[in-house]
Amino acid sequence: MKILLVDDSETSLMLLETILHGAGYHDLVRTNAATEALEFLHLAKKESPETQPPIDLILMDIVMPGLNGIEATRAIKNDPQLRDVPIIMVTVKDEEDSLERAFEAGAIDYINKPVSKIELRARVGSVLKLKQEMDQRKARERQLENLTRRLHELSNLDGLTNVANRRSFEDTYGREWRRSKREKKPLSVMMIDIDFFKRYNDTYGHLEGDTCLKQVAQAIQSSIRRPGDFIARYGGEEFVVILPDTSPTGAVTIAEAIRNNVGALHIEHSASDVSDVVTVSIGIAGHTPDDSIDSKTLLSSSDQALYQAKSMGRDRINIHTPGSCSF
Ligand code: GH3
Ligand code: MG
Ligand code: MG
Repeated sequence: MKILLVDDSETSLMLLETILHGAGYHDLVRTNAATEALEFLHLAKKESPETQPPIDLILMDIVMPGLNGIEATRAIKNDPQLRDVPIIMVTVKDEEDSLERAFEAGAIDYINKPVSKIELRARVGSVLKLKQEMDQRKARERQLENLTRRLHELSNLDGLTNVANRRSFEDTYGREWRRSKREKKPLSVMMIDIDFFKRYNDTYGHLEGDTCLKQVAQAIQSSIRRPGDFIARYGGEEFVVILPDTSPTGAVTIAEAIRNNVGALHIEHSASDVSDVVTVSIGIAGHTPDDSIDSKTLLSSSDQALYQAKSMGRDRINIHTPGSCSF
Protein backbone atom coordinates (compact mmCIF):
# COMPACT_ATOMS: atom_id res chain seq x y z
CA MET A 1 0.00 0.00 0.00
CA LYS A 2 1.47 3.31 -1.13
CA ILE A 3 0.83 6.38 1.03
CA LEU A 4 1.44 9.99 0.01
CA LEU A 5 2.28 12.47 2.79
CA VAL A 6 1.69 16.18 2.20
CA ASP A 7 2.90 18.61 4.88
CA ASP A 8 5.02 21.75 4.83
CA SER A 9 6.40 20.97 8.28
CA GLU A 10 9.45 18.74 8.32
CA THR A 11 8.81 17.71 11.95
CA SER A 12 5.28 16.71 11.14
CA LEU A 13 6.41 14.64 8.14
CA MET A 14 9.05 12.89 10.22
CA LEU A 15 6.55 12.01 12.92
CA LEU A 16 4.07 10.60 10.38
CA GLU A 17 6.83 8.61 8.71
CA THR A 18 8.09 7.15 11.97
CA ILE A 19 4.64 6.03 13.09
CA LEU A 20 3.72 4.59 9.71
CA HIS A 21 7.04 2.75 9.38
CA GLY A 22 6.47 1.29 12.81
CA ALA A 23 3.06 0.05 11.68
CA GLY A 24 4.59 -1.71 8.69
CA TYR A 25 3.84 0.86 5.97
CA HIS A 26 7.11 1.29 4.12
CA ASP A 27 5.97 2.58 0.74
CA LEU A 28 5.74 6.28 1.61
CA VAL A 29 6.09 9.31 -0.64
CA ARG A 30 6.78 12.59 1.18
CA THR A 31 6.06 16.03 -0.27
CA ASN A 32 6.54 19.47 1.33
CA ALA A 33 3.87 21.34 -0.60
CA ALA A 34 0.46 20.70 -2.18
CA THR A 35 1.78 21.66 -5.63
CA GLU A 36 4.56 19.14 -5.26
CA ALA A 37 2.01 16.46 -4.32
CA LEU A 38 -0.17 17.25 -7.36
CA GLU A 39 2.88 17.13 -9.57
CA PHE A 40 3.81 13.72 -8.19
CA LEU A 41 0.28 12.39 -8.66
CA HIS A 42 0.11 13.47 -12.27
CA LEU A 43 3.52 12.11 -13.09
CA ALA A 44 2.75 8.83 -11.32
CA LYS A 45 -0.59 8.64 -13.10
CA LYS A 46 1.10 8.60 -16.47
CA GLU A 47 3.19 5.61 -15.46
CA SER A 48 0.38 3.54 -13.99
CA PRO A 49 -2.22 1.85 -16.19
CA GLU A 50 -5.54 3.62 -16.83
CA THR A 51 -7.58 2.05 -14.10
CA GLN A 52 -4.91 1.71 -11.42
CA PRO A 53 -4.67 4.76 -9.12
CA PRO A 54 -0.99 5.57 -8.53
CA ILE A 55 -1.46 5.82 -4.76
CA ASP A 56 -3.67 4.16 -2.13
CA LEU A 57 -4.00 6.89 0.51
CA ILE A 58 -3.11 10.55 1.02
CA LEU A 59 -2.42 12.22 4.38
CA MET A 60 -2.96 15.92 3.77
CA ASP A 61 -2.07 18.88 5.98
CA ILE A 62 -4.64 21.70 5.74
CA VAL A 63 -2.66 24.87 6.30
CA MET A 64 0.25 25.17 3.89
CA PRO A 65 1.76 28.16 2.11
CA GLY A 66 0.69 28.50 -1.55
CA LEU A 67 -1.94 25.92 -2.45
CA ASN A 68 -3.60 24.75 0.79
CA GLY A 69 -4.78 21.24 1.64
CA ILE A 70 -8.44 21.91 0.82
CA GLU A 71 -7.71 23.23 -2.67
CA ALA A 72 -5.41 20.30 -3.32
CA THR A 73 -8.10 17.86 -2.12
CA ARG A 74 -10.62 19.46 -4.47
CA ALA A 75 -8.20 19.19 -7.40
CA ILE A 76 -7.56 15.51 -6.69
CA LYS A 77 -11.26 14.70 -6.30
CA ASN A 78 -12.00 16.40 -9.62
CA ASP A 79 -9.62 14.08 -11.46
CA PRO A 80 -11.49 11.01 -12.76
CA GLN A 81 -8.52 8.71 -12.24
CA LEU A 82 -7.64 10.01 -8.77
CA ARG A 83 -11.19 10.56 -7.53
CA ASP A 84 -11.31 7.36 -5.47
CA VAL A 85 -8.02 7.81 -3.66
CA PRO A 86 -8.99 8.40 0.00
CA ILE A 87 -7.66 11.55 1.67
CA ILE A 88 -7.25 11.91 5.45
CA MET A 89 -6.81 15.54 6.60
CA VAL A 90 -4.14 16.22 9.20
CA THR A 91 -5.28 19.25 11.16
CA VAL A 92 -4.75 21.38 14.23
CA LYS A 93 -7.68 21.33 16.69
CA ASP A 94 -8.89 24.91 16.05
CA GLU A 95 -9.37 24.39 12.31
CA GLU A 96 -13.03 23.30 12.59
CA ASP A 97 -14.21 25.56 9.74
CA SER A 98 -11.61 24.43 7.31
CA LEU A 99 -12.26 20.84 8.30
CA GLU A 100 -15.85 21.24 7.20
CA ARG A 101 -14.68 22.59 3.85
CA ALA A 102 -12.22 19.73 3.54
CA PHE A 103 -15.05 17.22 3.92
CA GLU A 104 -17.04 19.14 1.32
CA ALA A 105 -14.04 18.91 -0.98
CA GLY A 106 -14.06 15.12 -0.58
CA ALA A 107 -11.82 14.18 2.37
CA ILE A 108 -12.82 10.87 3.96
CA ASP A 109 -11.52 11.38 7.53
CA TYR A 110 -9.28 13.58 9.68
CA ILE A 111 -6.73 13.29 12.39
CA ASN A 112 -5.68 15.92 14.91
CA LYS A 113 -2.18 17.34 15.37
CA PRO A 114 -0.12 16.52 17.28
CA VAL A 115 -0.66 13.10 15.77
CA SER A 116 -1.08 10.23 18.20
CA LYS A 117 0.43 6.90 17.26
CA ILE A 118 -2.61 4.77 18.07
CA GLU A 119 -5.06 7.13 16.40
CA LEU A 120 -3.03 7.43 13.18
CA ARG A 121 -2.58 3.66 12.86
CA ALA A 122 -6.27 3.05 13.48
CA ARG A 123 -7.44 5.65 10.95
CA VAL A 124 -4.97 4.66 8.26
CA GLY A 125 -5.74 0.97 8.82
CA SER A 126 -9.49 1.33 8.48
CA VAL A 127 -9.34 3.68 5.48
CA LEU A 128 -6.95 1.39 3.64
CA LYS A 129 -9.15 -1.60 4.40
CA LEU A 130 -12.12 0.24 2.96
CA LYS A 131 -10.10 1.21 -0.08
CA GLN A 132 -9.05 -2.39 -0.63
CA GLU A 133 -12.63 -3.61 -0.45
CA MET A 134 -13.70 -0.89 -2.88
CA ASP A 135 -10.93 -1.84 -5.31
CA GLN A 136 -11.93 -5.49 -5.15
CA ARG A 137 -15.56 -4.64 -5.74
CA LYS A 138 -14.64 -2.46 -8.70
CA ALA A 139 -12.46 -5.19 -10.17
CA ARG A 140 -15.37 -7.65 -9.86
CA GLU A 141 -17.72 -5.16 -11.51
CA ARG A 142 -15.27 -4.70 -14.37
CA GLN A 143 -14.99 -8.46 -14.80
CA LEU A 144 -18.75 -8.74 -14.87
CA GLU A 145 -19.03 -5.93 -17.43
CA ASN A 146 -16.47 -7.62 -19.68
CA LEU A 147 -18.28 -10.91 -19.35
CA THR A 148 -21.63 -9.34 -20.20
CA ARG A 149 -20.14 -7.59 -23.24
CA ARG A 150 -18.52 -10.82 -24.44
CA LEU A 151 -21.79 -12.72 -23.95
CA HIS A 152 -23.64 -10.10 -25.94
CA GLU A 153 -21.07 -10.29 -28.72
CA LEU A 154 -21.21 -14.06 -28.74
CA SER A 155 -24.98 -14.14 -29.04
CA ASN A 156 -24.83 -11.76 -32.02
CA LEU A 157 -21.81 -13.08 -33.84
CA ASP A 158 -21.40 -16.13 -36.01
CA GLY A 159 -18.93 -18.41 -34.24
CA LEU A 160 -17.03 -19.42 -37.38
CA THR A 161 -16.73 -16.24 -39.44
CA ASN A 162 -17.03 -13.62 -36.69
CA VAL A 163 -19.50 -11.55 -38.70
CA ALA A 164 -23.05 -11.00 -37.39
CA ASN A 165 -25.29 -14.08 -37.22
CA ARG A 166 -28.78 -14.66 -38.57
CA ARG A 167 -30.46 -13.50 -35.36
CA SER A 168 -28.56 -10.25 -35.36
CA PHE A 169 -29.44 -9.83 -39.05
CA GLU A 170 -33.17 -10.13 -38.32
CA ASP A 171 -32.92 -7.36 -35.69
CA THR A 172 -30.86 -5.03 -37.84
CA TYR A 173 -32.92 -5.63 -40.97
CA GLY A 174 -36.17 -4.83 -39.16
CA ARG A 175 -34.65 -1.66 -37.73
CA GLU A 176 -33.20 -0.49 -41.04
CA TRP A 177 -36.47 -1.22 -42.82
CA ARG A 178 -38.44 0.97 -40.40
CA ARG A 179 -35.83 3.73 -40.57
CA SER A 180 -35.81 3.75 -44.39
CA LYS A 181 -39.60 3.84 -44.42
CA ARG A 182 -39.65 6.77 -42.01
CA GLU A 183 -37.00 8.67 -43.93
CA LYS A 184 -38.31 7.60 -47.35
CA LYS A 185 -34.87 6.36 -48.38
CA PRO A 186 -34.05 3.37 -50.59
CA LEU A 187 -32.86 0.17 -48.93
CA SER A 188 -30.94 -2.52 -50.76
CA VAL A 189 -30.36 -6.12 -49.72
CA MET A 190 -27.78 -8.44 -51.17
CA MET A 191 -27.64 -12.24 -50.94
CA ILE A 192 -24.24 -13.74 -51.60
CA ASP A 193 -23.67 -17.45 -52.10
CA ILE A 194 -20.44 -19.30 -52.76
CA ASP A 195 -20.50 -21.22 -56.03
CA PHE A 196 -20.15 -25.00 -55.97
CA PHE A 197 -19.28 -24.97 -52.31
CA LYS A 198 -20.44 -28.51 -51.73
CA ARG A 199 -17.86 -29.63 -54.27
CA TYR A 200 -15.26 -27.44 -52.54
CA ASN A 201 -15.86 -29.34 -49.30
CA ASP A 202 -15.84 -32.65 -51.12
CA THR A 203 -12.53 -31.80 -52.79
CA TYR A 204 -10.59 -30.04 -50.05
CA GLY A 205 -12.30 -31.23 -46.88
CA HIS A 206 -14.58 -29.56 -44.39
CA LEU A 207 -11.78 -27.79 -42.49
CA GLU A 208 -10.52 -26.11 -45.64
CA GLY A 209 -14.16 -25.27 -46.34
CA ASP A 210 -14.38 -23.51 -42.99
CA THR A 211 -11.21 -21.52 -43.71
CA CYS A 212 -12.62 -20.53 -47.09
CA LEU A 213 -15.85 -19.32 -45.45
CA LYS A 214 -13.88 -17.14 -43.05
CA GLN A 215 -11.83 -15.62 -45.86
CA VAL A 216 -14.90 -14.91 -47.98
CA ALA A 217 -16.63 -13.28 -44.97
CA GLN A 218 -13.59 -11.01 -44.53
CA ALA A 219 -13.51 -10.15 -48.23
CA ILE A 220 -17.18 -9.12 -48.08
CA GLN A 221 -16.61 -7.18 -44.87
CA SER A 222 -13.73 -5.26 -46.41
CA SER A 223 -15.85 -4.35 -49.45
CA ILE A 224 -18.54 -2.50 -47.52
CA ARG A 225 -17.54 0.97 -46.44
CA ARG A 226 -20.35 3.02 -44.91
CA PRO A 227 -20.98 2.84 -41.17
CA GLY A 228 -24.62 1.75 -41.74
CA ASP A 229 -23.69 -1.12 -44.08
CA PHE A 230 -24.14 -4.49 -42.44
CA ILE A 231 -22.99 -8.02 -43.23
CA ALA A 232 -24.24 -11.24 -41.66
CA ARG A 233 -23.88 -14.96 -42.26
CA TYR A 234 -27.33 -15.94 -43.38
CA GLY A 235 -26.66 -19.65 -43.13
CA GLY A 236 -24.28 -22.28 -44.55
CA GLU A 237 -22.24 -20.64 -47.31
CA GLU A 238 -24.64 -17.76 -47.75
CA PHE A 239 -24.12 -14.19 -46.61
CA VAL A 240 -26.48 -11.24 -46.57
CA VAL A 241 -25.60 -7.55 -46.78
CA ILE A 242 -27.89 -4.65 -45.84
CA LEU A 243 -27.18 -1.34 -47.56
CA PRO A 244 -29.24 1.53 -46.13
CA ASP A 245 -29.80 4.67 -48.22
CA THR A 246 -28.53 2.79 -51.29
CA SER A 247 -30.33 2.22 -54.58
CA PRO A 248 -30.03 -1.13 -56.36
CA THR A 249 -27.67 0.55 -58.85
CA GLY A 250 -25.49 1.72 -55.97
CA ALA A 251 -25.62 -1.80 -54.56
CA VAL A 252 -24.24 -3.16 -57.85
CA THR A 253 -21.04 -1.17 -57.33
CA ILE A 254 -20.59 -2.77 -53.90
CA ALA A 255 -21.45 -6.19 -55.32
CA GLU A 256 -18.77 -5.75 -57.97
CA ALA A 257 -16.24 -4.88 -55.27
CA ILE A 258 -17.27 -8.02 -53.38
CA ARG A 259 -16.88 -10.22 -56.48
CA ASN A 260 -13.47 -8.69 -57.17
CA ASN A 261 -12.28 -9.04 -53.59
CA VAL A 262 -13.43 -12.65 -53.34
CA GLY A 263 -11.72 -13.37 -56.67
CA ALA A 264 -8.56 -11.67 -55.43
CA LEU A 265 -8.35 -14.17 -52.57
CA HIS A 266 -7.32 -16.70 -55.27
CA ILE A 267 -8.65 -19.66 -53.32
CA GLU A 268 -8.10 -22.63 -55.60
CA HIS A 269 -11.30 -24.46 -56.57
CA SER A 270 -10.51 -27.12 -59.13
CA ALA A 271 -14.02 -28.63 -58.92
CA SER A 272 -15.82 -25.46 -59.92
CA ASP A 273 -17.45 -25.38 -63.36
CA VAL A 274 -17.08 -21.61 -63.68
CA SER A 275 -13.55 -20.78 -62.55
CA ASP A 276 -10.26 -22.12 -61.14
CA VAL A 277 -10.82 -20.16 -57.95
CA VAL A 278 -13.66 -19.67 -55.46
CA THR A 279 -16.36 -17.35 -56.82
CA VAL A 280 -19.68 -16.01 -55.56
CA SER A 281 -23.09 -15.30 -57.05
CA ILE A 282 -24.92 -12.22 -55.82
CA GLY A 283 -28.61 -11.36 -55.85
CA ILE A 284 -29.67 -7.77 -55.24
CA ALA A 285 -33.05 -6.24 -54.49
CA GLY A 286 -33.74 -2.65 -53.54
CA HIS A 287 -36.77 -0.53 -52.82
CA THR A 288 -37.88 2.50 -50.86
CA PRO A 289 -40.08 0.91 -48.19
CA ASP A 290 -43.74 1.97 -48.31
CA ASP A 291 -47.10 0.32 -47.62
CA SER A 292 -47.06 -1.54 -50.96
CA ILE A 293 -44.26 -3.86 -49.86
CA ASP A 294 -43.07 -5.53 -46.68
CA SER A 295 -39.55 -6.36 -45.55
CA LYS A 296 -39.93 -10.10 -46.23
CA THR A 297 -40.83 -9.43 -49.86
CA LEU A 298 -37.68 -7.42 -50.44
CA LEU A 299 -35.58 -10.12 -48.83
CA SER A 300 -37.13 -12.89 -50.88
CA SER A 301 -36.65 -10.74 -54.01
CA SER A 302 -32.92 -10.69 -53.35
CA ASP A 303 -33.08 -14.46 -52.85
CA GLN A 304 -34.89 -14.87 -56.18
CA ALA A 305 -32.27 -12.65 -57.82
CA LEU A 306 -29.57 -14.94 -56.41
CA TYR A 307 -31.39 -18.04 -57.60
CA GLN A 308 -31.54 -16.54 -61.05
CA ALA A 309 -27.84 -15.59 -60.98
CA LYS A 310 -27.14 -19.25 -60.27
CA SER A 311 -29.29 -20.49 -63.11
CA MET A 312 -27.76 -17.96 -65.51
CA GLY A 313 -24.37 -19.57 -64.93
CA ARG A 314 -23.09 -18.41 -61.46
CA ASP A 315 -20.14 -16.08 -60.74
CA ARG A 316 -22.30 -13.06 -61.45
CA ILE A 317 -24.50 -10.30 -60.08
CA ASN A 318 -28.24 -10.10 -60.68
CA ILE A 319 -30.78 -7.46 -59.65
CA HIS A 320 -34.43 -8.04 -59.01
CA THR A 321 -36.72 -5.08 -58.45
CA PRO A 322 -39.80 -6.11 -56.51
CA GLY A 323 -43.00 -5.02 -58.22
CA SER A 324 -41.52 -4.83 -61.72
CA CYS A 325 -40.71 -8.47 -62.33
CA SER A 326 -37.39 -8.77 -64.12
CA PHE A 327 -37.64 -12.50 -64.84
P1 GH3 B 1 -24.31 -23.49 -55.75
O1 GH3 B 1 -23.22 -23.03 -56.63
O2 GH3 B 1 -25.55 -23.78 -56.47
O3 GH3 B 1 -24.50 -22.56 -54.59
O4 GH3 B 1 -23.82 -24.88 -55.15
P2 GH3 B 1 -23.32 -25.19 -53.71
O5 GH3 B 1 -22.66 -26.48 -53.70
O6 GH3 B 1 -22.53 -24.04 -53.19
O7 GH3 B 1 -24.68 -25.17 -52.90
P3 GH3 B 1 -25.35 -26.22 -51.96
O8 GH3 B 1 -26.45 -25.47 -51.26
O9 GH3 B 1 -25.72 -27.47 -52.72
O10 GH3 B 1 -24.26 -26.63 -50.91
C1 GH3 B 1 -23.84 -25.79 -49.92
C2 GH3 B 1 -22.76 -26.49 -49.16
O11 GH3 B 1 -22.18 -25.61 -48.20
C3 GH3 B 1 -23.23 -27.66 -48.39
C4 GH3 B 1 -22.31 -27.74 -47.21
O12 GH3 B 1 -21.41 -28.79 -47.40
C5 GH3 B 1 -21.54 -26.43 -47.25
N1 GH3 B 1 -21.57 -25.76 -45.97
C6 GH3 B 1 -22.59 -25.17 -45.34
N2 GH3 B 1 -22.20 -24.68 -44.15
C7 GH3 B 1 -20.89 -24.99 -44.00
C8 GH3 B 1 -19.91 -24.76 -42.98
O13 GH3 B 1 -20.16 -24.16 -41.93
N3 GH3 B 1 -18.65 -25.19 -43.21
C9 GH3 B 1 -18.33 -25.84 -44.34
N4 GH3 B 1 -17.08 -26.28 -44.50
N5 GH3 B 1 -19.23 -26.08 -45.30
C10 GH3 B 1 -20.48 -25.67 -45.14
MG1 MG C 1 -23.49 -22.21 -52.89
MG1 MG D 1 -26.39 -22.07 -50.54
